[in-house]
This record gives sequence, C-alpha cells and structure tokens, in this order.
Amino acid sequence: MPFRDECGVFGICRQTEASRQTYLGLYALQHRGQEAAGICSGDEEGLHLHKAQGYVADVFTEAVLDGLPGDAAIGHTRYSTTGGNVASAAHPFLIHGRFGQVALCHNGNLTNTGELRDRLIAEGHTFTSPSDSEVLLALINRAQADTLEDAVVAALREAKGAYSLLILTDDALIAARDPHGFRPLAMGHMGETHAFSSETCAFDLVGASYDRDVVPGEMVVVSRRTGEIRSRFPLPKVQPKPCVFEHIYFARPDSLVYGQSVMVARREMGRRLALRHPVEADLIVPVPDSGVSAALGYSEQSGIPFDFGIIRNHYVGRTFIEPKQNIRSFGVKVKLNPVRHLLAGKRVVLVDDSIVRGTTSKKIVQMVREAGASEVHMRIACPPTTHSCFYGIDTPKRQHLIASYMPLEEITAFVEADTLGYLSLEDLEGCMGDTDGQGFCYACFTGNYPVAPSTS
Ligand code: SF4
Repeated sequence: MPFRDECGVFGICRQTEASRQTYLGLYALQHRGQEAAGICSGDEEGLHLHKAQGYVADVFTEAVLDGLPGDAAIGHTRYSTTGGNVASAAHPFLIHGRFGQVALCHNGNLTNTGELRDRLIAEGHTFTSPSDSEVLLALINRAQADTLEDAVVAALREAKGAYSLLILTDDALIAARDPHGFRPLAMGHMGETHAFSSETCAFDLVGASYDRDVVPGEMVVVSRRTGEIRSRFPLPKVQPKPCVFEHIYFARPDSLVYGQSVMVARREMGRRLALRHPVEADLIVPVPDSGVSAALGYSEQSGIPFDFGIIRNHYVGRTFIEPKQNIRSFGVKVKLNPVRHLLAGKRVVLVDDSIVRGTTSKKIVQMVREAGASEVHMRIACPPTTHSCFYGIDTPKRQHLIASYMPLEEITAFVEADTLGYLSLEDLEGCMGDTDGQGFCYACFTGNYPVAPSTS
C-alpha cells in the first residue's frame, strides 16, 4: 500500500487493430502508472504517436485511436519515478534519425543516466525531457553500427541498471530486458500476432496466450513483415535478479510475473506470516487492495475468519480537494473506510504488503481502533523495508524509510499497533521458491544492490 506504482509497457505486431489492442493492454496495466500514457503505431506510411498526461481512458478517444493506424504498436503507462510528473516525460519517444523512425518506451531506471546524458550533451545532443528512454534513443542514433539492431545492442552495452523496453521501427518490433531482468516482460501470441507486456493480465484482456518471459539479457526481434522471431543474447551474462517487489505489491494478483502466479506467491506469504507470527484474534482484515491475497493466506493458515473490514474507494483520482478545515487523516479516509459493525469489539489482525514511512500504517491502525476494534495486530507480508530502490520503483530516500532507523518495538509503538510482525527474508525466499536466496533482487530489504546505485 505505501509504495507507489511504476510503469507498464505493452507492444503488439501483425495485428490489424494494433493501437486499439495496445490501448486495451495499457488499460489492464493502468495500475502500474497513472501519470501519463502513450501509444506509437506503425503502418506503411510510417510511425504515428500520441501521448499525454492522464489515465489511459482519458488520453485515448475513438478519434485519437483512429489517428494511430497500422499493424504494430507499442504503448506505455507512466508513473513518474524520475523526472517528476512532466508532460514531456511521457512515453513512447520517437526520433527520425540515422535508422529512420524509431520509437522506444521502457520500464525501469538506468543507474548511469546522469553520466550518459552529460556525455551526450557534451557531444552536442539536446534533450526534450528528463527520461531515460530519450537517452537510450540518443545512444542508438549515435552508435557505430550498420544496422538498427546492432545500434540497439551498442546502446544497451552502455546502459546500466534496469530496463524492460520495447522499440518499434518500420520493420520490426524489438523487446529487450536488462541482464539482471529487474523489471518483468512477458511474451505471448494469438495466431500470427505477437505481443509483449509487463504483466500477463494484459494478454488476458486482448486474448493472447502467454508463451514465456523475455529472458534477462535477451533481445527479441519480431519482423513486422514476416513474423519471424529472432532471439539474441548480446550482453554479458550475470545472475538474474528480478524484482521481488512485483510479487509483494506492484503486480496484479491475476498476473503471472516471471512465470509465477502473483496470487499464489502472496497467499504463501500470508501463510508463512501466520506461522511466523501467530496471534489470538477474531478477524483477519486486509489493507485493500494489495494486502488481500496475503490476508487470505494468513486466514487459511491460522483458521481465523477473513473479512473486508476496510473498504477502498476505487474512484479516487490522483488529487482531490481537501476540506478547508483540516480533518484528521483525510488523505487516508477518502480512500479507505472501516466497516464498523465488523470491527467493533474484535481483536483484529491487519495485513498489509509493506510499511514504508509508517505514517499511513499509523492512520489505518487509528482508523480501525476508532471503529471499535479492541486490539489491532499488524502483519506485514515482506521483511522490513530498509533501503531505497534504484531500479525504477518509487521509494523514498533511505532516511525516510522507518525500518532503516527504528527497531521493531519502536515501529510497533509508532504505528500504535498492539503487536507487529514482518515476514522474514528466509520466508520470502521460500515463498518465491528461491532455494539459494540468489534468484531475486531483495535489495530494499538487504542493501545488497546487484548494480551499484546511481550517483547522478
Ligand atoms: Fe525491487 Fe527492491 Fe530490488 Fe527495487 S530494490 S528492484 S523494489 S527488490
């Protein structure tokens, strides 16, 4: 709940209504970013781009989609992890350069953007936005290479950090994932149509079947003309480190991420949490929506009944006008409301996915108590979040992460819970089937960063 979302990408080719399918794909990925959305489509005339700030449903009307013809498209829904919420940072980016028209969008953060940007500026390049995608496009355009494909490889060899990217050209749809595979990218098809998506929930909506993930370090090139697929591994091989937080919080529970069911992983987190931190209680209540699956697992394991003791208003926009007279915890109250008759007099176990600053958790505990709960026990379906993310997830600076500077007892007192229990790292690894603890990035819990954090 306290982390905010990141970006989603979707691409499709050899599909007559490519931009409309991409629109649907982005619709399914809306939870990954609500600041801006964009689609670039391609037909025999060239590439066509539309992007703007706002929700997918607001950015794309019938008329706008009519202006995005062609049999191939890539799209992006953005949450501003870098560069703030500025219109110029919306994806995809489109250039007309040495290799003709090239459009690119990506999910993730490069850790050496500052260094690359400074170098490109010194070479005379001008940027229109703070986006890493524009840096990648500039690198592609200036690469010493004869073909676009080799230019992409040259650019990716210079980029460090996290990227799952999609590129559209007159000839091809290209998908690539950084060697650690920090961010997800799935591949699917329906008939002759090939599709790529951050999460498989988008495939479900457009009717594509999930085939496999783009493997960390892989570049997949689909010919728009013939449909031929070529796979290359042009980058040095490293131990893959996909982001475990996708399974804890970001992804939709109906998605497969890294080929694993998010719902199954979250339920297992809840089960192990119940084994690790049992408590005598009357009711298991999730903090909606991201705590729901883990709360179900906790309830199944403990035998304590589950119920929706807090209801989330799904129609709250990004901003709302607050009353002039300050109402305590208004920001949380507008999104979450307790079901008093369920909570009154009950010993409640409140299950959430994570605690970041601690301030939201405190307000939710207060809300549940004010609704009449006699005890409130917090259970968190991940280990204490002690370090910031540099790979595309919007976390506060380390000094604002409550678990980085407070021991468990003090956090318990701060959030005003009767007891507080986190999932252990060992249990989290177990939930993910990660037998040697090497299979995922856990850096926000351990500080063991697979790629040196950004200095820019
Ligand atoms: Fe995911 Fe945390 Fe690693 Fe960032 S630091 S990629 S949020 S596991």
